[in-house]
Amino acid sequence: MIRIVLLGPPGSGKGTQASALEKRRGVPHIASGDLLRANVRDSTALGRKVKPYMDRGELVPDELILDMMADRLSQPDAQQGYVLDGFPRTVKQAEALEERLRALSQDLDAVVYLKVPEAEILRRLGGRRTCPHCNAVYHVDTMPPKREGICDKCGATLVQRDDEKPAVIRKRLEVYSAQTQPLLDYYQARGLLREIDGMIGVDNVIREIETIVAAAQAAV
Ligand code: AMP
Repeated sequence: MIRIVLLGPPGSGKGTQASALEKRRGVPHIASGDLLRANVRDSTALGRKVKPYMDRGELVPDELILDMMADRLSQPDAQQGYVLDGFPRTVKQAEALEERLRALSQDLDAVVYLKVPEAEILRRLGGRRTCPHCNAVYHVDTMPPKREGICDKCGATLVQRDDEKPAVIRKRLEVYSAQTQPLLDYYQARGLLREIDGMIGVDNVIREIETIVAAAQAAV
């Protein structure tokens, strides 16, 4: 059982870490961005509403996110814990999550903040390629697929997400500082925030997260 939130700017490695934790701990990696993109791809009512915000690199309105996440978190596989990636993104979303946890007499083990310098983020996101079919993520320099442009896992053609083009990346980083930074204060005030240097390598970050979770669970 593990229940954590990963925080950090786009490109800080939240998705990679969350996928690794999902494999190691058997709890679902729940990424609000992936859920939204699936809705856009399937052209659902939600997908049609959120697409313009996503294309501009802006946050989707809280009400839409909160409904979608309430739905996802009530599914059977999330009852034994989860790793949240990309949610909460605003203080309002954090308050809604806290309320939900309180109602279920549950707690978060930790909120992990992955700290990465902006120049590194631009490099990481600019080279990122995503599988539109299974959401696997690659990087042209640091994590290339075995065959250029093809997903190792499912064979689909990789794409550069529209919101990973330079102008939109800059916008997302601005939005992040303005709206997500206050979350750090929110979780700091609750004694849940743990900061990790996102530059120490994927395996070391995972080890630190595991240590943080073990310490939190030992303290209960
Ligand atoms: P991500 O893949 O987490 O970087 O999310 C991609 C885009 O989806 C963001 O730029 C936002 O437009 C939207 N999004 C994802 N999660 C949230 C959230 N929790 N609140 C608002 N918008 C979100």
